Amino acid sequence: MPIEQEYRGRFAPSPTGPLHLGSLVAALASYLDARAHRGCWLVRIEDIDPPRELPGSASQIIQTLQAHGLVPDEPVLYQSSRIKAYQTCIATLRQQGHLFACSCSRHQLRHHPVYPGTCRNTAITDSEPALRLRVDERSIILDDLIQGRQNWPISTCVGDFVIRRRDKLFAYQLAVTIDDAFQGITRVVRGCDLLDSTARQVYLQQLLGFPTPDYAHLPVLVNAQGRKLSKQTGATPVDDARPEQNLWNALCVLGQNPPNGIHLAGVVEILSWARDNWNLSHLPASPEITMH
Ligand SMILES: [Zn+2]
Repeated sequence: MPIEQEYRGRFAPSPTGPLHLGSLVAALASYLDARAHRGCWLVRIEDIDPPRELPGSASQIIQTLQAHGLVPDEPVLYQSSRIKAYQTCIATLRQQGHLFACSCSRHQLRHHPVYPGTCRNTAITDSEPALRLRVDERSIILDDLIQGRQNWPISTCVGDFVIRRRDKLFAYQLAVTIDDAFQGITRVVRGCDLLDSTARQVYLQQLLGFPTPDYAHLPVLVNAQGRKLSKQTGATPVDDARPEQNLWNALCVLGQNPPNGIHLAGVVEILSWARDNWNLSHLPASPEITMH
């Protein structure tokens, strides 16, 4: 009899501010998809970019999740505790000859959506400004569970990408890839704004010999102007005092058609209804949902 692989999912916010409805939707979807598969659900705080972070928001996010009944099955993983692992993977990639030192400034690259290859043959010294990964000609093909088949010829649509920044901080792409493998994540449910990142993450998985999880990219909530709900666009923080209403709103956004009146039930009842009725195919297969 084949051994069924245990489902492991996660929600991985950056602590850049409180959760708003858009991020609650992503948290809830990853939670429900895991629960509907009798799987494990984890929370990972992606705190490796201090200049962008807001002190206190990691604990605020965890508190908001808790208020909504979204409690992870294992202790929260903080990426700031994982620096050694990132350094080890960089050493491996460097040894395999995949990296080069890049001293291009943002200004120099401003007209290049794809890196033009300027420093491709620059040897790495101890004072290198940034480390970039030299990509080959392969295509990354992925069957996203919501957005359908994706085909990324990596050299023309992404190009050589940064894995350690000029300020010595590790790139998001590197840390996510390493920690999804470290935590044994089998399915990633997250917003469509990260769909393009997936090509880089799958490419890194292939180089580092990590398995590729399944991916389901949710439509992203945008305002009437078509801009993603975020702190920058003035999205209001989720109010921890009315979790039932917030969960009901999030379920509506996710196309799950929660029955009228269920928002009057408790958080536990709403989540258990939502788990039992969870259907990924009810999600709109579009990259965006406009909120009015
Ligand atoms: Zn360069």
